[in-house]
Amino acid sequence: MAVEMNKKPNWLRAGNERVLIAGPCSAESEIQVMSTAAEIKKSNPNAIFRAGVWKPRTRPGLFEGVGLPAFEWLKKVRNELGLRVATEVALPWHVEAALKNNIDFLWIGARTTVNPFMVQELAEVLKGVDIPVLVKNPVHPDLQLWLGGLERFKRAGISKLAAIHRGFYTFEHSELRNIPRWELVCELMSTVPEIPIICDISHIAGSTRFLQMIAQQAVDLDMDGLMIETHIHPAKALSDSQQQVTPDELAEILSRLSKRNPLFTEEVILSKMSHIRAKIDELDKFLLQTLSDRMDLAKDIAELKKEHQVSVLQLERWRVVIEGCMHKADEMGLYKEFIRNIFIQIHDESIRIQSAILSGKAEELS
Ligand code: PEP
Ligand code: MN
Repeated sequence: MAVEMNKKPNWLRAGNERVLIAGPCSAESEIQVMSTAAEIKKSNPNAIFRAGVWKPRTRPGLFEGVGLPAFEWLKKVRNELGLRVATEVALPWHVEAALKNNIDFLWIGARTTVNPFMVQELAEVLKGVDIPVLVKNPVHPDLQLWLGGLERFKRAGISKLAAIHRGFYTFEHSELRNIPRWELVCELMSTVPEIPIICDISHIAGSTRFLQMIAQQAVDLDMDGLMIETHIHPAKALSDSQQQVTPDELAEILSRLSKRNPLFTEEVILSKMSHIRAKIDELDKFLLQTLSDRMDLAKDIAELKKEHQVSVLQLERWRVVIEGCMHKADEMGLYKEFIRNIFIQIHDESIRIQSAILSGKAEELS
């Protein structure tokens, strides 16, 4: 997957190549592992081959991976096909077994990153071993927990660390299995710019039909690589069958990705760009002034409510405001969810200000 460089090179993404991690959700049999790996290799000779040896399943009794015998197959992938191999570890003895069997990359699953005790135990057994460790985001959107997981391995002396973005669980309805919350990825990138970040598009998508779109979004954000679950016969997969692609489909997804130039270079375009950006800066100032004016009005209302001992929350008024805004947003062609989220935030802030005034703590507002 040759693409133009934007970010600084890092240990995972040398030169112009983004890394590709492909392979089945679970290692199921020698033939499934070897045939998938051989096919992936044909169009991606530098791919890292992934396969789950142990699978964290929501309910017991589902396929939980074949365990230790799978290492023999991964060794064959490494020795006979020359691909580097990666697997998930969740317990200290998983790490020991993976190290004994020459696994090249370890990844920490989303259900492990949520638990600092478990992450710390894994970090302890890795002290003094410099194997690359890839830390998936926790199941829920908690950036600090994700950063905390990375930090625990860093403190244990792991120098080749990367993050894997696999999306976040949500209560809200979504066609995706896990919502991407790209803003958290941007925040991770700016907090730890030295840590490469791979997008696990399969666990975000949950279904093959969204893979292309999510892969493109990851490239648009200049992420350092993609993890894509690939199975020689997805319909027969023992786990995550809906989201796995065949090696041919994998090649197709990669070939359809639009490349992005790292920066604007032509003078004319640069000048057009700075013209648009100047207008955006003006509008941003205007937005801020408008928000400030709006909050001043909330303060006036709070004074009236205080004087007449009226409660802060007026549900009927809020309903009218939000419905009016949604209607207007629709007319203006704005994405309704986006506007709803903004107005929920504005209303929250207005309530915060008004509550402070009603309880006589206006001086604590900042
Ligand atoms: C996996 O990669 O197969 C897996 C179990 O992922 P996650 O930890 O992201 O759910
Ligand atoms: Mn999976």
